[in-house]
This record gives sequence, structure tokens and C-alpha cells, in this order.
Amino acid sequence: MREIGKPERAVVTTCAYCGVGCTFRAEMRGEQLVRMVPWKDGKANRGHSCVKGRFAWGYANHQDRITEPMIRKSVDDPWQVVSWEEAIGYAASELKRIKAEHGARALGGITSSRCTNEETFLVQKLIRAGFGANNVDTCARVCHSPTGYGLKTTFGTSAGTQDFDSVMDSDVILIIGANPTDGHPVFASRMKRRLRQGARLIVIDPRRTDMVKSPHIEAQHHLALQPGTNVAVLTAMAHVIVTEGLADEAFIRERCDWDEYQDWAAFVSQERNSPEVLEPVTRVPAEELRGAARLFATGGNGAIYYGLGVTEHSQGSSTVMAIANLAMVTGNIGRRGVGVNPLRGQNNVQGACDMGSFPHELSGYRHISDEETRKLFEADWGVTLDSEPGLRIPNMLDAALDGSFRAIYIQGEDILQSDPNTVHVAAGLKAMECVIVQDLFLNETANYAHIFLPGSTFLEKDGTFTNAERRIQPVRKVMEPANGYADWEVTQLLANALDLGWTYTHPSQILAEIARLTPSFAGVSWARLEREGSLQWPVKDDTHEGSPIMHVDGFVRGKGKFVVTDYVPTDEKTGPRFPLLLTTGRILSQYNVGAQTRRTGNTAWHPEDLLEIHPTDAENRGLKDGDWVKLSSRTGETTLRATITERVAPGVVYTTFHHPATQANVVTTEYSDWATNCPEYKVTAVQITPSNGP
Ligand code: SF4
Repeated sequence: MREIGKPERAVVTTCAYCGVGCTFRAEMRGEQLVRMVPWKDGKANRGHSCVKGRFAWGYANHQDRITEPMIRKSVDDPWQVVSWEEAIGYAASELKRIKAEHGARALGGITSSRCTNEETFLVQKLIRAGFGANNVDTCARVCHSPTGYGLKTTFGTSAGTQDFDSVMDSDVILIIGANPTDGHPVFASRMKRRLRQGARLIVIDPRRTDMVKSPHIEAQHHLALQPGTNVAVLTAMAHVIVTEGLADEAFIRERCDWDEYQDWAAFVSQERNSPEVLEPVTRVPAEELRGAARLFATGGNGAIYYGLGVTEHSQGSSTVMAIANLAMVTGNIGRRGVGVNPLRGQNNVQGACDMGSFPHELSGYRHISDEETRKLFEADWGVTLDSEPGLRIPNMLDAALDGSFRAIYIQGEDILQSDPNTVHVAAGLKAMECVIVQDLFLNETANYAHIFLPGSTFLEKDGTFTNAERRIQPVRKVMEPANGYADWEVTQLLANALDLGWTYTHPSQILAEIARLTPSFAGVSWARLEREGSLQWPVKDDTHEGSPIMHVDGFVRGKGKFVVTDYVPTDEKTGPRFPLLLTTGRILSQYNVGAQTRRTGNTAWHPEDLLEIHPTDAENRGLKDGDWVKLSSRTGETTLRATITERVAPGVVYTTFHHPATQANVVTTEYSDWATNCPEYKVTAVQITPSNGP
């Protein structure tokens, strides 16, 4: 066993994996991190952690890290290691040339949900103020952009309504399209504690996850729906609540737009939206669904938690609004124990969205076309901003193919591996004249890059992350950056090579600028975070204590808005060639595309992605447990090993997407959410055939 030895110093910081945002004490001997100890005073984790935060930090010192900048004129040329000065100078000259030849809208960039709020804010500032257009987007495009659209439309802002502790006052917990045990383990433990105390549980998921049944926990209702039918299930639940007189009319009259409610109630009451009529579509037994609806409406405080099984659909935004409708019709908003809570995936996806990473919004979710807001930023930044929303990631790739988009700056994202339709992403990147990638490792996207700028880990910088409960927490530098610069400093180097004259010397100054320009952050400062540990936005001023619960006296938008969400089947259909539906998810020990966790001992817990298949479907194909199979769809194919299990229903298969050898996104479709372009990762018609292996 390796001798750890007595630590010489410790730094309290925030985990860089999931949206729970656990606080750790990083214990050091010299410049060596020896262990991460969960911090008992961490408000999100209270001394708990999971295997990722505790053990999977080894990637920070991994031999694969690139610590020197590199350039090449063509993606067919070998990389050439150069100085920072030369790399930044080359990047700036290419950006200036392309802007002069093709205009500001030919340039854009992507912010990272793994970087700090301050770094994200600077990247979008560079793109808007330096490049001169609003072509900025973020990885939330492919995960929680429907949350942004849906919750902003119905409630007025894009964020979960509760703090994590609120679940301890819930009487009924409804989980839809989420597997907290694997995705948000520390919060899942708190939820399970409440369930053991007697709260009741409804799970809406095609798969029998650990939340459905595990030691000491059993859901009262598991609605094992056909993938792609979330809206039909939620509308049928609303039908039961309205037609059986279970709606909370007093709440609705006081807090919501009554006329819109009546229109919505008339819609959901139609017979075509009853559980019985929709049963052939949803595959959920009508009586089971009626029972779940009655329990949620009458069981006391009802809280809804959801994940990417809600958003990554062609009706992702509609599903988020259907969830909001369900919370409002039952009066479950604005107090402890209730609410609508997106379980954010990446550590700072909430923060990246808050910081103005979308092409149509400045920080704090204010539309770029709003003149008053724009003028505020223009006066502070000393520039004139484009008033037109910019391009989303898929539109940037499309525009690259028609020649109108030519240069991109990507900080801390691997869009070739994480975005849908890998072939299209590769073609778009290949068509660009200048691709700048800033990352820890030479990722898949870097295959198409002309300039590689080494990134820094969360251990090498100061800043803040915002977790899924809107909690802004400090990230503190534990060691010096291996490449010499934190990510925010690299962005500043590039900005100044573009003549922007930035003079930040510490992220606290960037945070002060964010607070000056963003009402929900108005009372946030580095000094307060040092003093108070964390703050939950909105924080209205220096004396405001923050907001654990939102929409307490009224919705941010004024009256809550009921939106009619008609079920529209996805265009992705099963048929004789592709008779099964594939859905995807994560596993506890791994994280997203695995770039970090695969470079740590955690790989021992999950060395490969497996395909879950029901015994009946396996028998029909002559498959045994552990057999290699070819997984093919209309888009592509991959090879992986089968595991035979009743966790999935007949006709449904499931896999994770952590290993590049599998590349599950090779088979996913081109369909996306109607409102936000969030890809429909969760529904793909596939066929499984025996294989001899890759
Ligand atoms: Fe906490 Fe999430 Fe990090 Fe695990 S991965 S320690 S649950 S923040």
C-alpha cells in the first residue's frame, strides 16, 4: 500500500465533476496532492463524497497532459511546439485576418461547463466584445438547454427552484429521466435518507434504476414508459389531476395566469389525453399512471427532480414545461419540500449558463436584443455589441460548411466526442480555417485544430463554480498551473493580442465585474464567499443572504405560465431493420466522455461500456451474457459487449458513453429539441447482431 504520509498543508476547494458541487480539503505534501477529504462544512455535501471526487483527481498529473502550446498550418501537418507568445500571436493574427476578410460573424467560440464562472464570463466577453459577434454557445446546448427554455418560459428564470436540503421536507418525490445514484451520488444519498424516513417515490424511467428498487427503498410507482413519450405520460398525469378535481385552484388563482390555466386545463381534460387512450403510446398501464398522479397531487409536499432523460429529446423543452405545469397545478412551488429541480450534469453547467454562454443572452439570462441591458455592458466594456443573437453550435458547424463561419475558439469541450452526428461535426471543423482548442489533453476535437493551447485543472486556479442548487462556491488554487497559466489568463492573453487591453490580476476582479453587470449576482463578492463559504443566487445586494428557495412570493416572471404541451411522437421510428430503442446514461465511477476519469484508477470499476439487453431480446438473437454485439442504427454502428438484464424492458436497450472505443454518439440520430436544438440522444432505433468483437 502506498504511503500517504502526513499532509503539510490543506486547501478547501470544490469538486470539478458533477453538479452536486461537493467541498473537499485538498491535502498536500510539497507540491504533491496526496488526498481529497470531503469537507464537513461543505453546504452541498456535509462531509460526504463519491468515488469520483474522492479518488478521480489523478488526471491532473497524468502523463497525457499537454503543457506547451502547439500550432500547425494545416491539420495534416505535425504539431509544432511553440512559445506562448508565438501561439497567441498566431491565433490573434488568424482571427484578425478572418474578421477582416469575412466579417465578425465568421468567428465564434464555445465556453466550458468545467471551467469557472469567471473563465466562462471572459470567453463570452472575448467573443462578443473582441470577435464582435454573439456566436457563443456552451455544452448545455447538448444537455440542459431545454431547461433554460422551459423554466424561463413558465417560471421566468432558468434554474432549479430548491436547495438540496429541501428534499428533507418532501412527502412525495418524483424522479423523471434521472438516475441520481449514478449521476449525482451525494445528493442521491440525501434523497434516500428522506425516503427511508417515509417519503413516497414515483420514478418515471424506461429503465429499472436503483431508485426504483434497492435495499430499504422501493418506489410506490415505477412508470416504465416507452422512450420518447415523457410528454404523453406527464399530460396523462395532468389529465387525471384536473378531471378528478385534484388541482390546487387556490394556488393557481393566486400565483398563476388563470386564463392560461383554463386553456391548459381544457386541453389536458380531453379524452385523447387520458391514461387509457395514451396507454398504447406510453406502454404505462393506465391504472399505474392514475395511481401516480393521485399520489403526487394528494400526498403532501411534492418535489420533482429530473435529468437528461427529460431534456435530450425532440420534445425536451415541452417536457420541461409539462413538469412545470405539473408542479403549478398541484401548488408545489415556493416553499421547502416542493419544486422543480433539474439535476445538472457537469460541475459548472449552471454557472456557464448563468454567465451568458448562449448566443441570445447576456449574463443573468437577459436577451441580447434588450437595449437597456446591452447599453449597460457596452458602457462597462467600452464597445458596441451586436444586437442580433449569434449562432448555436450546430448552426456554427452548418455555417462552416457553407463558408460563412471560419474560426472557432473552444475552451474545455470535446465537441467531436460529445455532440451528435460525429461525421457532421468533423466535416464542420475541417471546413474552418482556424480552430483553436484549449484543453488538458489532445482530445478528439484537437484532431481538427490548428492551434492547441494547454488548459489548467480546477486544482490550478482560483474562481467559482455554481452547482445545481444555484450555490456559488469558491474554487481555490491548490498547485501552480502545469502550463504556467490558468485558463482565464490564457483568454486574457488572447484578448490582449486582439488589442482589448484587459488588466485582470485575479478572478475576484472578474467576479466583481459579473456582480456589477448581473442583477442575480449583485451581492456576490470574493470577500463574502471567503467569509460565508457559499451563496445561492439571486443575491440582490451586499446584505441579502441569498435564495435557497425561489418563487416564494411570486414567480420571477410575475404570474406562473401554464403552457399547452401536446405530445408529438419523435421522427425516430422503429421498424423491421431497427426494431429496438436505444437509450443512454452514466455510471457512478465515470464522468461524461471519460477524458478525466479514464485517466485515473476509477477505470478499474468500469473498464468498458456495456449494452444492457432484456433476456427475451437476447434469446431471440442467440446472445449470451458477455457476447460481443454490433449495435447499428440509421446513422452508424459500433461494437460492444452485451449484458443481459431485466433492468431494461423488452424492446429497449441501454448503454453508457464513457469510453471512446464505443463512441455511442456514432449511432445517435440527427433529431433535436424543437426549441433549442438539444440532440435527441435518448431515443435511437437500433438493431443488435452478434459480432466477433471490434
Ligand atoms: Fe460530489 Fe459530484 Fe464530486 Fe461526487 S462527483 S464528489 S457527488 S460533486
